[in-house]
Amino acid sequence: MKRKQNPFSRRQFMKTTSVGALAASQIIPAYAFGMHNNGQPGKLAALGGTPVRSNKNWPKWPYTDQNVIDSVMETTKSGIWCRIQSATGTVPTFEKRWAEMNGVKHAVATGSGTQALHTAVEALGIGPGDEVITSPYTDPGTIASILSARALPVLADIDRFSFQLDPDDVEQRITKNTKVLMPVHMCGQPAHMERFMEIAKKHNLYVIEDACQAHFARYQGKQLGTFGNLGCFSHQSSKVLACGEGGSIIGDDDELMDRCYTVQNHGTSRRGRTETIGPKYRMNEFEGAVLMGQLPTVMERHVLRNKNARYLTSRIKDIPGIRPQKLYDGTEEGSFYLYTMNYDKKAYNGAGRDKYLKALAAEGIKLSPYIKNGLHREPWVDNIIGRRVYQQMYGKQRLKQFKDEMVCPNCDVVCDEEMVMLWASGPLLGTQKDMDDIINALTKVYENRDQLNNV
Ligand SMILES: *Cc1c(COP(=O)(O)O)cnc(C)c1O
Repeated sequence: MKRKQNPFSRRQFMKTTSVGALAASQIIPAYAFGMHNNGQPGKLAALGGTPVRSNKNWPKWPYTDQNVIDSVMETTKSGIWCRIQSATGTVPTFEKRWAEMNGVKHAVATGSGTQALHTAVEALGIGPGDEVITSPYTDPGTIASILSARALPVLADIDRFSFQLDPDDVEQRITKNTKVLMPVHMCGQPAHMERFMEIAKKHNLYVIEDACQAHFARYQGKQLGTFGNLGCFSHQSSKVLACGEGGSIIGDDDELMDRCYTVQNHGTSRRGRTETIGPKYRMNEFEGAVLMGQLPTVMERHVLRNKNARYLTSRIKDIPGIRPQKLYDGTEEGSFYLYTMNYDKKAYNGAGRDKYLKALAAEGIKLSPYIKNGLHREPWVDNIIGRRVYQQMYGKQRLKQFKDEMVCPNCDVVCDEEMVMLWASGPLLGTQKDMDDIINALTKVYENRDQLNNV
């Protein structure tokens, strides 16, 4: 069989070597897999060839070091286990430091990102009858925060290549009851905040940023979480600043942030009066201790992930049919909780994503499809429509329209066919050799695309 012309071979190799990057790296040029075998690409590991990577070890996650261990030990011994026992415990101290690190006046810690978002929703006085527009392509915690307040989560479609909420689709879904926009900074990269802030101003809406994946990411000169009225973070184990389960809210508005404290403290304010509706969502001092133990070194990991991600992107952008996440103008730094790409089976002989992921896994590179279903395809939609509170507050007609309009075709194609992601909190702390393994595996599978349907 005559080998097909490979557009990603010699020309590409010349282009990459000409910038001198190849010399410094251990990357195998695209055509090298064929060099040992009469111009045929090296056989896919899934079909009996030798894997690109045999090393199964990636940097461990969650991160821990002696400082973290000492910090937890100190809290254990101190007997200060609950934040209200001391104004100088780990949680109040974390709140101060975390606010500084984000360039805002205040932070309030909670027990999870979901709790942070729900606290934000309650603090803005959102409840039954109100609508909040957010993304279907997100963690269930995003809409749980809205549902917990018995408000209506209206889901708008996403951009197919940035995976972020699409501002045009959001604007179309605004009704007289819409009170909040909740953009999600998906995969740790900025949503189109410039547009969302414009839309919010025009329609007089609050903005809560779901920055649960986006610690330290920067857009237009500011950190994510600082654009809207409130920004919310998760410190759950998998996230880049992790303490098992934890969350935080940041903001500059003194009164609103004071209300966030009150809400997460079962409605009881710093002044000791029980003032409003609120669950008990306090972060405990052990969680604060884990976070405080990490803060001195967390930026090193942020910088390293960005460096490795830039390197990956500089190589992957030249591999056909696999496209790194689209970023909006003004994106300065990502958080790289995830490293995400679109897979285009047309460039791979029509082979479905499952074959692609299987072939990569056999090469020693485990990528995943991430979210199986957009939240618009989950059973909560029918569940709330059947509930008395929702029927009374929104009316049958609005609920019918709510369901009929919950169509997000870009989200569907991303979930069903295109998303390919590397969970990056740990792996992007790897060496250049680790990154080269990823690039080489992607390249090798591309070179073997005519075999991909056989894996
Ligand atoms: C993780 C996450 C949440 C929820 O945070 P938890 O700490 O798990 O409750 C919400 N939104 C997004 C985008 C997330 O990634």
